[in-house]
Amino acid sequence: MSASKYTLLCNSHKCRSKLSGFAWVTACSHVFCDQHGSEELSRTPAICPACSSMLSGKLDVLRTELAPSEQYKAMALVGLQPETVLEISHKALEFWMYQINHERLLMEYNMSRAGGQVIQLEKFVVQQNQSRELELNTLKGEVASLKKMLEEYKRKYSDVVEQLNDRNKQYKKLQGLLNSLRMHTLSSEERDTTPHAFTTGLAKHSFHSSPPFTGAEGGQFFSPGPESMKTFFQFNTPNRERTNSFIHKI
Ligand SMILES: [Zn+2]
Ligand SMILES: [Zn+2]
Repeated sequence: MSASKYTLLCNSHKCRSKLSGFAWVTACSHVFCDQHGSEELSRTPAICPACSSMLSGKLDVLRTELAPSEQYKAMALVGLQPETVLEISHKALEFWMYQINHERLLMEYNMSRAGGQVIQLEKFVVQQNQSRELELNTLKGEVASLKKMLEEYKRKYSDVVEQLNDRNKQYKKLQGLLNSLRMHTLSSEERDTTPHAFTTGLAKHSFHSSPPFTGAEGGQFFSPGPESMKTFFQFNTPNRERTNSFIHKI
């Protein structure tokens, strides 16, 4: 950018607007827009808002037209010695060089500040990424642990189902046994209700060791006549005889 295309900016930090029309310039080589110049530099003595220099001289502050008319330019330096013209031009160019250098330093400062912010932001992003990476790894570990637990539960569930099936098989088997026992008990009860005589021990003994008590033989057993009694006592007599002979021997 050539110097002729460069536009001065208001040196007020809160303004920084491009200057046009009238501007306020100072002996300390600062320039302000018409608004801020009239607010800050119109009093006496004035304090430069940019560098806090005391501006008490009559020509320390000047309100100047940035684009003077051709007539003004034709007459402004007329009659002055060439050295004076060059000196005035030299001072004006020094002012320009200072402003351009000032803007360059300010831009470098802003760039350095922005670079620092970028570095801080990059560090923040890296820290955030590391933190997210750590969280992600933790979550992956938790997912793996949960998968392992799920597999364990599946295995236990399968074992429980298998045990349940075994229990069901045993239950059905026992149920079948119970049913058969019930049937057997019912059939036994039905048999027990018919013969009344079977309730005595003698009858039970006769049922298992003797032929069925039918006809005259059965009647002789339950109603023993004299012959039967005789036979019974005759059967016992030898024992008595043996006992008596044993006594006689003593
Ligand atoms: Zn301004
Ligand atoms: Zn100043």
